[in-house]
Amino acid sequence: MRTLIAGNWKMYKSASEVRAFCEELQKKKLSLSTDLAIFPQAVHLPIFADVLSTKPTKISWGPQNIFYKESGAFTGELSPLAAKELGATMAIVGHSERRQFFGETNRSAAERALGALAFGIQPIFCVGETLEERDANRTMEVINQQLAPIFDLSEEAISHFIIAYEPVWAIGTGKTATATQAQEVQAQIRKSVESHWGKENAANCRILYGGSVKPENAREILAQPDVNGALVGGASLEISSFLSIAAAANQ
Ligand code: PEP
Repeated sequence: MRTLIAGNWKMYKSASEVRAFCEELQKKKLSLSTDLAIFPQAVHLPIFADVLSTKPTKISWGPQNIFYKESGAFTGELSPLAAKELGATMAIVGHSERRQFFGETNRSAAERALGALAFGIQPIFCVGETLEERDANRTMEVINQQLAPIFDLSEEAISHFIIAYEPVWAIGTGKTATATQAQEVQAQIRKSVESHWGKENAANCRILYGGSVKPENAREILAQPDVNGALVGGASLEISSFLSIAAAANQ
């Protein structure tokens, strides 16, 4: 399975900074064996379509959140159809910042994932425990609750589903899970996936790690057998660190 390095830009960068990043990326004519994706603020997605949809750089992009209905009276939401029209092929769903600050629940995150899938957009479904939950040995209980609503998805849907394990205590804090901690949890996530969708689907399910991934720690984390890529926040904002992380996957 190809490694995926995905950048979550959160609410950073102006339009001109986004354009400059995309143009620099395009000039690099990358020939990585790693897949790349970037999730800017939705309003900047057309810049990606404008600059990056032509060869040579092949990169996926999409929004940081997505709704499950195509259209309607849902002020402030982003339609999966509109995202698709902007060229989105992936979307982040259920990020811990959405859960923490905007009331996203396990159920609503799963609905958003379904909405994305219905429009051919691959959801990157985020799960992860808080420090208190980890300290209380509840990590897998919490993650299995977060995954429970998506265990109803069909086999066809699951083949397009990406899971990101993002321990909440490691996001934007500079504290990274050790490679062993990431592997331990991700192996258990794969087991949960296997018990619902079988061995083959579990083996093919991309499970990313996210939480303060940087060029310095990427190689060790990405070398773990159940880590199929990374969801990167802060270190994806600079082109050099983003590409160093991608290069670390091949070492
Ligand atoms: C994220 O936003 O998903 C993330 C992992 O952020 P950071 O890499 O900055 O911890």
